[in-house]
Amino acid sequence: MVFVLGGPGVGKGTQCNRLVSQYGDYVHLSAGDLLREERHRTGSQYGELIEHHIREGKIVPYEITISLLRKAMEAHFPKQHFLIDGFPRNVEQGKAFEAAICPCDRVLFFECSEEEMLKRLMHRGQNSGRSDDNIESIMKRFRTFKDATMPVWHYYNAKKKLLPINAVGSVEQVYDRAEKALLEKTKKTAAL
Ligand code: ADP
Ligand code: AMP
Repeated sequence: MVFVLGGPGVGKGTQCNRLVSQYGDYVHLSAGDLLREERHRTGSQYGELIEHHIREGKIVPYEITISLLRKAMEAHFPKQHFLIDGFPRNVEQGKAFEAAICPCDRVLFFECSEEEMLKRLMHRGQNSGRSDDNIESIMKRFRTFKDATMPVWHYYNAKKKLLPINAVGSVEQVYDRAEKALLEKTKKTAAL
């Protein structure tokens, strides 16, 4: 179980897609994608609430996100290796997931400047059709990231599960760093 984090637009989804195309036994689940899907599901009681939180860059209540993740994981049974992208957005979510579903093995944390993330998001926003790829929502998402998600870095670092990845550079360069960090950690764990 690998949690994949980093600021908005840092390249989490891009890197997860590459990792699963290389390591087919892993399943990529994006918390944001699952929430966007649920928002549009006919009959969902959470559509409006999710849309409001996404547009405001706020963290959707964890019961909703964890329940969507659980269902998605069950749908992939008997697969056991998961990259959970965009999760946990705060420490409370991480603790709730680990208590209810299973412990995480490591946390890939992609890092680059806000300036670079803004550039990537504005570029993505030209075609994404996402209601939060606009300057107003992006600024709110940066604030939520700093206030709520950065404590997750410290929480898993103290547990020696954190793998910080420099996300500056081309997609290939970032991928090489992520792959190397994951493989090194796996080797070390196997040697214990
Ligand atoms: P996240 O999942 O973290 O929100 P994405 O993977 O959607 O981020 O990437 C955000 C945007 O930045 C996308 O348009 C993607 O193509 C682009 N991108 C991803 N990685 C890089 C990179 N290393 N350099 C430049 N652009 C990138
Ligand atoms: P993302 O697709 O990761 O950029 O997330 C887009 C938005 O979806 C976030 O700004 C939040 O509003 C919501 N979201 C994504 N992941 C989570 C999560 N783990 N918990 C709660 N809300 C989330």
